[in-house]
Amino acid sequence: MDATAPLPAHIQSQAAEQALAGLHTSADGLTGAEARRRLAEFGPNLVEEIGREHLLLRFAREFTHFFALILWVGAGLAFAAEAFDPGQGMGRLGVAIVGVILINGAFSFWQEYRAERAVAALRRLLPQQVRALRGGAVVQLRASELVPGDIVLLAEGDCVPADCRLIEAFALRVNLSTLTGESLPQARDAGPRPPVPTLQAKNLVLAGTSVVSGEARAVVAATGMRTEFGRIAHLTQTAGATTSPLQREIARLSRIVAVLATTLGGVFFFIGQALGLPFWENLLFAIGIIVANVPEGLLPTVTLSLAMATQRMARRNALMRHLPAVEALGSTTVILSDKTGTLTQNRMAVRRLWLGGEAFTAQGVAARPDIGADHLALFVDAAVCHTLKAVERGGARDWLGDPMEVALATMGREVAGALEGFVRRDEIPFDTERKRMSVRCDTPQGPMLYCKGALETVLAACDGVQLAGRVTPLDATARDRVLAAQDEMAKAGLRVLAFAHAPAPDGLPDEERGLTLSGLVGLEDPPRPEVADAIARCAAAGIRVVMVTGDHPHTALAIAREIGLVKGAQPLVVGGDALDHLSPAQLQLALDAPEILFARVAAEQKMRIVEALQKKREIVAVTGDGVNDAPALRAADIGIAMGVAGTDVAREAADMILLDDNFASIVAAIEEGRAVFDNLRKFLTYILTSNIPELVPYLAFVLFGIPLPLTIIQILAVDLGTDMLPALALGAERPDPGVMRRPPRARRERLLSWGLIGRAYLFLGLLEAAGAMAVFLCVLADAGWRYGERLAHTAPLYLEATTACLATIVVMQAVNVFLCRHPRRSLFAFGLLSNPLILLGVAAELALLLFIAYTAAGNWLFGTAPVSAAVWEGALGLALAMAEEVRKAWLRRTPP
Ligand code: ATP
Repeated sequence: MDATAPLPAHIQSQAAEQALAGLHTSADGLTGAEARRRLAEFGPNLVEEIGREHLLLRFAREFTHFFALILWVGAGLAFAAEAFDPGQGMGRLGVAIVGVILINGAFSFWQEYRAERAVAALRRLLPQQVRALRGGAVVQLRASELVPGDIVLLAEGDCVPADCRLIEAFALRVNLSTLTGESLPQARDAGPRPPVPTLQAKNLVLAGTSVVSGEARAVVAATGMRTEFGRIAHLTQTAGATTSPLQREIARLSRIVAVLATTLGGVFFFIGQALGLPFWENLLFAIGIIVANVPEGLLPTVTLSLAMATQRMARRNALMRHLPAVEALGSTTVILSDKTGTLTQNRMAVRRLWLGGEAFTAQGVAARPDIGADHLALFVDAAVCHTLKAVERGGARDWLGDPMEVALATMGREVAGALEGFVRRDEIPFDTERKRMSVRCDTPQGPMLYCKGALETVLAACDGVQLAGRVTPLDATARDRVLAAQDEMAKAGLRVLAFAHAPAPDGLPDEERGLTLSGLVGLEDPPRPEVADAIARCAAAGIRVVMVTGDHPHTALAIAREIGLVKGAQPLVVGGDALDHLSPAQLQLALDAPEILFARVAAEQKMRIVEALQKKREIVAVTGDGVNDAPALRAADIGIAMGVAGTDVAREAADMILLDDNFASIVAAIEEGRAVFDNLRKFLTYILTSNIPELVPYLAFVLFGIPLPLTIIQILAVDLGTDMLPALALGAERPDPGVMRRPPRARRERLLSWGLIGRAYLFLGLLEAAGAMAVFLCVLADAGWRYGERLAHTAPLYLEATTACLATIVVMQAVNVFLCRHPRRSLFAFGLLSNPLILLGVAAELALLLFIAYTAAGNWLFGTAPVSAAVWEGALGLALAMAEEVRKAWLRRTPP
């Protein structure tokens, strides 16, 4: 066997046994030892991710984007100035700007790299699982552990993990759209055929495709990069990473600001020329304005901030599949949630039965063997009519599959015993539209069809019912009795399953008909304990939660009341049939009802509810787990799949995966999503503030002819030195306790609002500018400087005064970082240690300032000189006097 070659054509024409022999394996699969040997030989079953771009190329890109180009031009001008008119310090400025480009590029690269690593790490949290046969037993494996010769078991909703030859298939249909673009499902079976190209082969299933319906066993023929999918991945680059509206907005915003800054620089240059300022001094000024205002680090910081949020979300069991989803999640206004497993625990326990016209408790039946004997058909039905797989777990036999079926099959076996002589032959599978399933078995009494499902759909296939020990025709009275029995169980919150059977001498029918109803079983599935609280939090946060379930309306309503989802006396309960008869406009109107829930809905119908809500301009999150949920998951703003119970197909279609299937985790993730937006605003307020004290000194210099209070190199020291770490710390703030007590962000609400700009520029920024100018002028005046006196660039007094100006800005920023933690709440409302990163950032900020002011290297590099204690006192006094706390206190008196 040569498994390094593409799939050999003859594997298609061989019979299943020959294909197995060709891969040196058997229908029982490989032994564990042989599988390990093959894993060492063929390597893990992984399609290597194709590097989007060489790392070096991406690194180079950080120095050639739009902002970098503007800065390069600035540096070029400075060097030109040095060449034409040496001795003005222009050369040093040029070097400083190049330094900015390099530091900034390296920092951005590091941030983006970290963000990417964070997202990649998330992907590894939930590896694809497969069911395989090893040594005759069913085992759960990671898909990466598969080797050629393994036998895999495939079922509806599974992604095919490797290129395989089918050994056995029941009604198998696969979706090949990832390989061929064709999205109509294609039938596949195990029969040998003349070879055709791999993609068209009817008896092969290929990695990267998915099972739409049916079941199969297949032998793995090629893994990893040797699969058809792996080879295509080699040929074509995977699509580039998507960017979120937020990232696009930031990019656009940064560009506008850069153009504005450049224009402003140009305008001031011409004004300076008109006022007769020396050319080079004037040029320096223009470059200063540009450098001060270009928001160099914004975009990578936003990306990193989103990536860090995904890590926090993962810790709270919500796995984001891509960054843009983080943001949509934060603005979610409606959650459409499944019931079973998401709101409830999916821990099914049989509680009540209705047999022969009488109601029993589960214990009642267990205590009376005669009941089981009288109604054996129901227990046999429960024991055989399922899609469970028996697996070995720690030496014991265990069931793998739907917990409801496990509960039913266990009950069935307890009463009906080992079922000697029963052989399962065929199946009509379950789907959410039919809401029932059947199996055909050979039994000692001859071939039988056993069916179970939702009562309405099972009744539709029945013409008799077992009442009081005999089969009676299913007339209106009998029908009413059964329905009443169901209502009673459903109103108690139980999920009701109906069981029916009939002889099946002529093989498997297309549709069940002529069945005899053998009874009803009521199962309890308790709500998850955290859910009631999560729903209350949604209500406080202005998020609507709507239950969309396949279960009976009464059961749905009883559970909805139990978890606080429905409180009023008259909730609107829309059934699947009613939903079919509503026009899109009617559905939109129905959704205006204050309390609404959807019951007996098929997965396909979810899509309509999602669309109707989106037409009402809601941001919709929807949960789903099956193949048929995939379109709704894709259409919603946030598709949420289940990590435990969901299918691979649903997970592939989703934006977010719940690692614990728990509704409460959705709410936790929304909280984190909202926090991201808040944090970016804090961060923006902080960095925009320092633009004003950087700009005002230049204005004063030009308009009033005073010495330049802050040099360009000092501006760079603030923007790319002292401001950087505290800003990052603001980006990593934990969600504010109030974040879930206010309504969702409006769709149109921008990150950079006028309120934010006003607060940063016109309030905090002006205060800092006034403080910095005051300290600068005080230092000069104290030393006897008079207005109109010129100072040399190297005069000790000038060096000390500019250092004082710089120190004041930095100290005020160190206080400002605390003010920026909330637009309304007092800084004293936060615990000192609630975000240690801030303390760390401020410490680094002050350490850098001390380096700049008090070391020879710092003095040389930044044109500074040590300042007296009085400067620090002044700076600190001014910083503490920032009236922001007073403004906030005043704001808090008015509702938001
Ligand atoms: P949710 O949509 O909230 O998860 P659900 O599990 O009840 O709820 P579906 O899976 O669509 O939703 O099931 C719809 C109905 O079909 C169930 O209420 C039950 O009556 C029936 N049903 C579910 N699973 C099976 C099964 N394995 N065999 C037979 N009938 C089933």
